[in-house]
Amino acid sequence: MQLSLYNTAARAKQPFESLNPGVVGLYCCGPTVYHFAHIGNLRTYVFEDLLRRALEAAGYSVKHVVNITDVGHLTSDADTGEDKMEKGARREGRSVWDIAEYYAQAFFKDWKALNLLEPTAWPKATDHIPEQIALIQDLEKKGYTYFVENDGVYFDTSKFPRYPDFAKLDIEGLQAGSRVAMADKRNPTDFALWKVSPSGAQRQMEWDSPWGRGFPGWHVECSAMAMKLLGETLDIHCGGTDHIRVHHTNEIAQSECSTGKPFARYWVHGGWLLEAPDDSGKGAGKMSKSAGEFVTLDVLIRQGYSAMDYRYFCLTAHYRNYLNFSYQGLDTARDSLRNLRKRTDPLIGKAAPANSGRAREWKSRFLEAVGDDLNFPQALGILNLMLKDPDLLEGERAGLVAAFDKLLGLGLTVAEAPVPQADLPEDLKPLLAERAAARAAKDWARSDAIRDQFKAAGFVIKDNKDGTAGWSAI
Ligand code: AMP
Ligand code: ZN
Repeated sequence: MQLSLYNTAARAKQPFESLNPGVVGLYCCGPTVYHFAHIGNLRTYVFEDLLRRALEAAGYSVKHVVNITDVGHLTSDADTGEDKMEKGARREGRSVWDIAEYYAQAFFKDWKALNLLEPTAWPKATDHIPEQIALIQDLEKKGYTYFVENDGVYFDTSKFPRYPDFAKLDIEGLQAGSRVAMADKRNPTDFALWKVSPSGAQRQMEWDSPWGRGFPGWHVECSAMAMKLLGETLDIHCGGTDHIRVHHTNEIAQSECSTGKPFARYWVHGGWLLEAPDDSGKGAGKMSKSAGEFVTLDVLIRQGYSAMDYRYFCLTAHYRNYLNFSYQGLDTARDSLRNLRKRTDPLIGKAAPANSGRAREWKSRFLEAVGDDLNFPQALGILNLMLKDPDLLEGERAGLVAAFDKLLGLGLTVAEAPVPQADLPEDLKPLLAERAAARAAKDWARSDAIRDQFKAAGFVIKDNKDGTAGWSAI
């Protein structure tokens, strides 16, 4: 199978070739575990899973690394603001370590539910502090850093002339526009490699370093872990397009200044999932955690969708395009998946070798679509057409479904598990009796408030004739 990928570094689609024959090192920026992943984040991991499956179909063995960011990601990209992890811990009144573990586990659950292939490694930033310190020391030795008193070690981007190239940054424009926000940085694009803990305030996560007690900047973790696990030059580095401008640009600067080698040969970025506009038609921006309200996979499941409905929804758009999220769109994806399963379920267990000329033709059409920069919307169309081809034997059709599903990952070769009815969260349980009492006392304001609280959590209250109340997922 021929595979071509759109390489952000070249702004062009290029045939893919690995550095070493037969093996691919694939690094994907992973979640910051201060909150649940939203379905926008998950769209990016679905696209990366499709890429991994395509690489495997092309015959490569893939070393796939997804990091867990559990320290150092600040609320502002300008290296000011708070560590997202410490902020998350305060929000929940728990330790940083607790919330890192809790949200990492929730993330792994989503990962499995979406049928994403297990990566080779899930390195955590906090397990790689010495590697990050060593990388910063190397950059310091080579003259790329400076120290800002009571603040930290910064990378001097003016010493890396190619810095603006990757994101096509307008450095002069940035310089003119950011005098105020620069604080003690020498250039607006300089970024923190190590932040010293503020004097008088003890952080929950901090380590000793040659520059004082503190914590690593966010970007340095990806360079340090990627190069440790995959070597100094990666085959492919992925993430969402939001990472091009700052995070990936900084990863390139610090890695290439340290090693003198290209950091990644292909940069492949996924487009954003956009929020549904509100009733007035406003607000269709990037789904983001900092915006407050966001949709998680769990919220979808509570409303009766399956994780595969969402995976199918992602497959309907090319990975580089924006995808508008709406429940209407998700309903359409669910209906399409149901229709597809009506054709594929009777084929389960009937797969036979699909070797006829006709079958081989379908297979090569399918692989051609996937190989063309992961054109999965087209590949889905080909699957649907193939299922209607009267010239294929049933066993061949079943064999092709199995082969195609290795790439689609929709679980079409096994009977679908029923969507589990979500259990009522503990905090809502006592409110059922309280609502019944409020209704008996004709306290409609309280009764409505409780109903709204249920609705926000994805449940609907059902009033019974005898005055008690039941519930179901929306
Ligand atoms: P984060 O946990 O915010 O560091 O993001 C994890 C991954 O999700 C990164 O690859 C981001 O680029 C990606 N991402 C964030 N928001 C969106 C979105 N709305 N749509 C698609 N991908 C996103
Ligand atoms: Zn990263």
